[in-house]
Amino acid sequence: MKPSREVEQLINETKKQVEHLRVLGVDAIRVDVSPPVTRKVRSAQVQDAGIGLFEDLAPAPKKLCPSTETFEQIHADIGNCTRCPLHLERTHVVHTEGNRKARLMFVGEAPGADEDIQARPFVGRAGQLLTKIIEAIGLKREEVLIGNVNRCRPPGNRAPMPDEAATCKPFLEREIAAVQPDVIVVLGNTALRNLLDSREGITRARGRFHEYKGIKVMPTFHPAYLLRDPSKKRETWEDLKKVRDYLESQRGTKDTKSE
Ligand code: URA
Repeated sequence: MKPSREVEQLINETKKQVEHLRVLGVDAIRVDVSPPVTRKVRSAQVQDAGIGLFEDLAPAPKKLCPSTETFEQIHADIGNCTRCPLHLERTHVVHTEGNRKARLMFVGEAPGADEDIQARPFVGRAGQLLTKIIEAIGLKREEVLIGNVNRCRPPGNRAPMPDEAATCKPFLEREIAAVQPDVIVVLGNTALRNLLDSREGITRARGRFHEYKGIKVMPTFHPAYLLRDPSKKRETWEDLKKVRDYLESQRGTKDTKSE
């Protein structure tokens, strides 16, 4: 049977990723072929382990542990990073930038070609659209924080691999703990899935607030996607109005933030 176009596309993408890894010197990939755990088996495992029997003793949902680290300390720790293969083809490490007392933060996927050259996040075409989106809710770009899950450009602008994202994410989390914004807008699937550990796609998740360690998170479409499909700008505008209204409703409730 001939595979469907989607399967064919998936196979081709996988081949490209594997070839990229080969070029980077990876000569083997471990594949887990054990059968998926069924719900029934999982439920038995949970009961055997005593998990779920004492719901009231379950750990409370994680809350943000505020930190006094500075961005300078975090960025010094990142240094000339070689922790994942993305360092091999990057020009610059692209750090989070903006107001260190921001009430609003935007998180994207990873730098593209323009960002890689200029060492600044969201400065290409998608970045220019992001600036317009920020201005549409009455803020200036310098008043918010803008960062990415990954700080090095993936070759060919592919999405970061899960292990690449997992290696870089702790630095973003340290920045979030240092700034403690009131709202984080996650742009697109990579940011959504990494910050919220969500399996939901952006189309389903967008438009309502989620939570990251007690911080409100609004998922919305990535501006690069809006460039490809401008009809989705209307939904993004709806999402951002909710963010604007929430920030407005919180104004004055915290005296630690200056805009
Ligand atoms: N796309 C992203 O996700 N991040 C950038 O910094 C630029 C484009």
